[in-house]
Amino acid sequence: MLYDNHGRVINYLRIAVTDRCNLRCHYCMPEEGIKYVDRSNLLTFEELERVVTIFSRLGIDKIRITGGEPFLRKGINDFLESIVAIGRVKSTHITTNGTLTHDKVGELKNLGVSSVNLSLDSLDPSRFFEITRRDNFDRVMTTLAELIEYEIPTKINMVVMNRHNIDDILPMIELTKHNEISVRFLEEMPFNGSGEHDDLSTWNHIHILDYIKSNHPGLRKINDGPNSTSSNYQVPGYVGNIGVIASFSRTFCGTCNRLRLTPIGLLKTCLYDDGVFNIRDLIRQGATDADLSHTLIEALSHRAKDGYEAEQKRSIIRVSESMATIGG
Ligand code: SAM
Ligand code: SF4
Repeated sequence: MLYDNHGRVINYLRIAVTDRCNLRCHYCMPEEGIKYVDRSNLLTFEELERVVTIFSRLGIDKIRITGGEPFLRKGINDFLESIVAIGRVKSTHITTNGTLTHDKVGELKNLGVSSVNLSLDSLDPSRFFEITRRDNFDRVMTTLAELIEYEIPTKINMVVMNRHNIDDILPMIELTKHNEISVRFLEEMPFNGSGEHDDLSTWNHIHILDYIKSNHPGLRKINDGPNSTSSNYQVPGYVGNIGVIASFSRTFCGTCNRLRLTPIGLLKTCLYDDGVFNIRDLIRQGATDADLSHTLIEALSHRAKDGYEAEQKRSIIRVSESMATIGG
């Protein structure tokens, strides 16, 4: 097993396979002026497969494929198949905006994808457009219906934003009445690609939960699971559940089991750091499997204790990158 310097087991790798996206969610990307990474600078699928194979020998057994929008990258299904097939990888998950999957959910089921996180910030088409700056609501809803029909474990991620989608919180909870899905409410984080943002703490996890409880006084706490970032609840009588994720308040760092790989190969040991080494460069300089393993183990020997320490250690303290370059 892999451990960090704080005794935390590390078994989860999140891979952003592209920084490109067909939506422009305003909390993630500016509307215009985005400079995408040149394709030659992306880790190739062969390089990624090698990284996952090496890391899986060290103890990584859970993989999430994210982006940008992962389904924009050509060959993604073959890549998913190759990751699912790696012997030590126990589960492969996807985070997607659901705009390109409305007719592909059956394929994902056949590929052996373990679960899907679907980003959906509003159940109202006009608010969806306002937030994402694109008119793709119907496709996302079709993806959701298909995920439910194919019984793929599904979590909806909704970023809670003052003045934008507060009226969606209760309708989102209603989705869990008859559907065995999880709806998670996330605090907004500063990764919007501009460095400019309103007060992010207005709707923090405490405020979100208070609001939900004031409308559902019977809300009951349920098990969070070992490395969960969400604090989970259920409305009595509902078959699904809800979760609140303190992504900006960072209350869950003590049990963090995650690594992140950006599209250009930066390995992040915390969402809030700015990368601890570049695995693409090492690979292209001829690093052996043993070199890559040692570099990872070494990086974990001085991992930040939490997101606040990681932020302090950044070379550029102010967070201004887009979440599309990190993967969420
Ligand atoms: N495009 C895919 C999608 O939207 O699901 C995958 C990549 S997206 C960057 C991954 C997750 O990050 C999404 O659930 C999105 O809502 C979340 N996210 C992006 N920017 C965020 C921000 N500034 N604060 C909180 N969550 C954010
Ligand atoms: Fe694209 Fe996902 Fe970012 Fe929205 S959150 S702009 S869908 S990468």
